Amino acid sequence: MEMSREELAALVEAHLDDHFHDECGVVGIHGAPEAAKLAYLGLYALQHRGQESAGIVSNPGSHRPQAVHRGMGLVADVFNERILEQLEGRNAIGHVRYSTAGGSSLVNAQPFCATTDVGAIALAHNGNLVNAFPIRRELEGRGAIFSTTADSEVIVQLLARSREQLPEERLIDALSRLKGAWSLVMMTADALIAARDPRGFRPLSLGRLDGAWVIASETCALDLIGATHERDIEPGEVVVIRRGRLRSLRPFRTERTTFCIFEHIYFARPDSNLNGHTVYDFRKELGRTLAREHPVAADVVVPVLDSGNTAALGFAEESGIPYEQALIRNHYVRRTFIEPAQSIRHFGVKVKHNAVRGVLVGKRVVLVDDSIVRGTTLTKIVNLIRAAGAREVHLRISSPPTIGPCHYGIDTPTREELIAHNHSTEEIRAIMNADSLGYLTLEGLRRCGTRLKHGFCDACFSDEYPVEPADEGPPPQLSLFRAVDEDA
Ligand code: SF4
Repeated sequence: MEMSREELAALVEAHLDDHFHDECGVVGIHGAPEAAKLAYLGLYALQHRGQESAGIVSNPGSHRPQAVHRGMGLVADVFNERILEQLEGRNAIGHVRYSTAGGSSLVNAQPFCATTDVGAIALAHNGNLVNAFPIRRELEGRGAIFSTTADSEVIVQLLARSREQLPEERLIDALSRLKGAWSLVMMTADALIAARDPRGFRPLSLGRLDGAWVIASETCALDLIGATHERDIEPGEVVVIRRGRLRSLRPFRTERTTFCIFEHIYFARPDSNLNGHTVYDFRKELGRTLAREHPVAADVVVPVLDSGNTAALGFAEESGIPYEQALIRNHYVRRTFIEPAQSIRHFGVKVKHNAVRGVLVGKRVVLVDDSIVRGTTLTKIVNLIRAAGAREVHLRISSPPTIGPCHYGIDTPTREELIAHNHSTEEIRAIMNADSLGYLTLEGLRRCGTRLKHGFCDACFSDEYPVEPADEGPPPQLSLFRAVDEDA
C-alpha cells in the first residue's frame, strides 16, 4: 500500500525521535524598538519546544491594527526579513508549537487573535487545560463558534464573554474557570500580560532589555537577545506591563507547586535556568545518582546525543569511567528525505546517528539516555553500537520508567504505547538487546528533586496526577475545513 506524504513524514519522525515532546514555547516583548525581531530571536532560542508552527503578532500602536504572521515549520523558515519588517511596533508576542500529526494545522498555530469589546487581543499559551473540552461543549451549546481544535481557544472565548472591564480582569476571570497548566502571554492595545497557573507546571521567566520588558518560556531566549533574567513569573501570578510599568497580581487560590520535573530531565535546554536552578547541574546530578544506583564494570560512557549528554557526564564523573562521544548525531536532519529504492539496513536511525567504530571496538559500553518512551529508537541505537564492535552494551536511563501520559502540555503517546507500561525492566532489556538496563529509581529522582526547593510533578513516572483530567468526551471536530499547503 502506498503511503501518503504525511504518513511517511510521521513514520520517519517516529524513527528519528522517541521522546515526549514539549508542546509550546512563548515570548513577549514590551517597549522595545523592533519588538517583532526580538520575538523572532526569542522563538529561535525556544525552537526545541515546538517545531510544527511559529507565529508572531505585533502592535504597531496609534490605533492601527495588530499585525500577524503565522506559518507551519521552523522559525527560520516561517519568517524572513520582509515579513519581520511588516510586523511593526514596540510590542509583540510569539509562539512556537509542537503537535501530533492529527492536530498539525495552520488554523491551530498561535498566537490566537480576537477582536473583543475591550479591543484586539493576541494570546500565546504553553500548557494544557484539563477541563477545556467540557467548557468548550458548554460554550458551543450557548452558540459560541470555535475556529480551532486547540484548548487554548477556550481562554479567548471565556475572556470575550467576561463582564469585567479591563482585559487583565477578563483574563483572570477566564482562567479562574480553567484547570491545568498555563504559562501564557497576552497582548492588548496598550499592555503585555503574562500569567502562570497556580501549580506552575510550565516555566515562564521575566527579563529586561534596555528598559524594555521580556517574557519567555526559558531563560535561553533572554540570553540570546541580551536581556537580563530578573526573576521567574511565580506560580499563580499575573503580571501586567502597561506603558512600561509592571504590576504583579495574585488573583488565584494558592496551590502546591507541581512544576514539571521532565522540564529538568529533558525538555528545557541545559543552558536554561528554571525556578532558580540550572538545568545542566540538575541533569548531571541525575547522572551521578544513576551511577550510584546502577554501577557496572565498563570501559566507556557514551551519551545518546543530545538527550543523554549531561547525565552521561555525571555518570562518568561519579563512576570514574571515561566519557566518549562515540555516537555522532547529524543535526541537519529534516522531516522528509529520500531513501533509495534499494532499502538500506537501519536507514531511519542511521540518518540521525552514526557510531565511532574506533572508540567502540571490543569495549564494554555504558549507553546513557534520559528516558525511554516506546523504545524504538534506542533499540536501534543499541544495535548500531553492537554493529560497530562493542563487546557489551549496558543501558542507563536518567529517569524512572515512563508509565503514564501527560495531561499538562506535553505530547505523549497513549499509556498502552509506553514500553514501561506493558513490560518489566528485564523484558525491556531483552527487547532492546542490552546486556543490562538500569533506570533511575523514583526515590532517586525525588531525592535529586529536593534540591529544587519547590514541589514538582512526576506523574508520568509515579502515576500520581496532581490535577485529575476532566472527562473529555470526544475531541472537537474540525472536519469541514482543511489547510492546503502551497506545494501540496
Ligand atoms: Fe511533566 Fe508531570 Fe507531564 Fe510528566 S506528567 S511530563 S512530570 S507535567
